Amino acid sequence: MSKVEIICQNCKQETLLKREPIYNGFNKIGIKLSCTGCGIVFENEKDIMFKKSSTKKIIFTDEDRSKNVKIFDKNENHKLCRYCASYIVNPFTQYCSVHKKEVQATDSCDEFKKSSSKKIDDLF
Ligand SMILES: [Zn+2]
Repeated sequence: MSKVEIICQNCKQETLLKREPIYNGFNKIGIKLSCTGCGIVFENEKDIMFKKSSTKKIIFTDEDRSKNVKIFDKNENHKLCRYCASYIVNPFTQYCSVHKKEVQATDSCDEFKKSSSKKIDDLF
């Protein structure tokens, strides 16, 4: 059960909204919304005056806020030179066999070809 701060139209107090599931036998058929102060039952959630916080209306419950948004793609490192088949490394340099130039392990380019057999760390 989640509780939300409201200003009750009936008792004119800052109270909490009480949510109780309504059951018909074993089936949940709805939610009863009532004031924890005076006990009045609200017919419609949209009629309830929710208490305003300093920043925004409290209209979401904790359940609405708990969804995590994934921002970072964990595969974003897969195009690094060090995982590329064209990446040649020896004790003196790191070299790209496609661009014929020195590269860094953390470089990346559009010619990336994933190395399936090469284990870069074994070369040292
Ligand atoms: Zn009330």
